Amino acid sequence: MKFHSFLIKYGEIGIKGKNRYMFEDALVRQIRYALSDVDGDFYVHKCHGRVYVDCNGEYDYEDTVESLSRVFGIVGICPVVRREVKEIEELKKDVVVYMGEMYPEGNCTFKVEARRANKRYPMNSMEINCALGEAVLEAFPEMKVDVHNPDVRLNVEIREEVYLYSEIIPGPGGMPVGTNGSAMLLLSGGIDSPVAGYMIAKRGVEIEAVYFHAPPYTSERAKEKVMDLARLVSVYSGPIRLHVVNFTDIQLYIYEKCPHEELTIIMRRYMMRIAEHFAKKDGCLGLITGESIGQVASQTMQSLAATNAVCTLPVYRPLVGFDKREIVEISEKIGTYEVSIQPFEDCCTIFVAKHPVTKPNIERIEKSELNLSEKIDELMQTALDTTETIVIGKKGADTL
Ligand code: ATP
Ligand code: MG
Repeated sequence: MKFHSFLIKYGEIGIKGKNRYMFEDALVRQIRYALSDVDGDFYVHKCHGRVYVDCNGEYDYEDTVESLSRVFGIVGICPVVRREVKEIEELKKDVVVYMGEMYPEGNCTFKVEARRANKRYPMNSMEINCALGEAVLEAFPEMKVDVHNPDVRLNVEIREEVYLYSEIIPGPGGMPVGTNGSAMLLLSGGIDSPVAGYMIAKRGVEIEAVYFHAPPYTSERAKEKVMDLARLVSVYSGPIRLHVVNFTDIQLYIYEKCPHEELTIIMRRYMMRIAEHFAKKDGCLGLITGESIGQVASQTMQSLAATNAVCTLPVYRPLVGFDKREIVEISEKIGTYEVSIQPFEDCCTIFVAKHPVTKPNIERIEKSELNLSEKIDELMQTALDTTETIVIGKKGADTL
């Protein structure tokens, strides 16, 4: 069956009044972005409170559906067959062809749901339902009508053209990216942080990212891995500005001056400070990490409190109550897992103590940080000044 359009269904909650335009415009923008590298000529538009993707000429159906099913805000994707508006006898023929091609087995129950946006059409919705229902029953005697719980709901919308659709392919839900401000993701090469970014983006938040690189202790390949992960997340979130911070000198200085069992916590506190610097500079409204309570020593409640204490922006930790297994499941679903498990060290695994504190005391940590007072401001400034910022996303789509 050749489909000419897709009707995009989106959740209605929270998008009343003025917000509705913002929501729909962001959805249209994200759909255009998602389709920018799909084969085909697409026209994405709003019409009568609906969002449609019209496909002009040939296009790659599978790829189109796959790309649409990654756009947050979409709850359903309906492939539509468009026909000219004709009088009822001709319309019956179109509907019979549609049902025959869509349901060749024939042994289903169905219901016709006609809508007449074009009020000049000489029959009302009820009359259209009856006429088309009869035509289908006549053509396919094994099909039956079930008005309460049909296998197939055949939608017939009479507009400038007739839209026929009956299938709903599920979308990812959530809100279109761009409807909820932006946040800065601390993106490492691990399993968790890409999932955390995905989950916050799903709520409509635009994502920026910061990666702490520690050459020569971390390889160029580790940085590329993070860029690959950012690219995979950007398939859902739209383009990501990735800040690559050179963290080596700060880490070495902490290593030299602070108790080794506190290294990870102090390092994490400097990561948060730097991430917050870029977040504020770029107008982000929060930070995002992939932390989950108790997963490692630096993620106990005490450690999280110690890390949190240096931040003034809210820190979003969408995985906080998840087990590793649950996080792995999502990372497999969104396609980041295979890249995350590539064996390139991120900077945290290099400078870890054998016995890190699991219950850091904030005052003691602050006292240890005083050991850094001589050079840390200068090192921080250098790290900020030498940060490389890369925009990661689909090629040629940055104007969308
Ligand atoms: P992940 O799988 O996300 O790397 P993890 O289980 O390895 O998490 P940690 O290494 O303790 O946990 O890191 C906790 C969080 O701190 C990460 O989820 C990430 O948000 C942030 N983070 C850690 N290392 C880096 C880094 N090198 N660059 C940017 N963010 C980092
Ligand atoms: Mg990690």
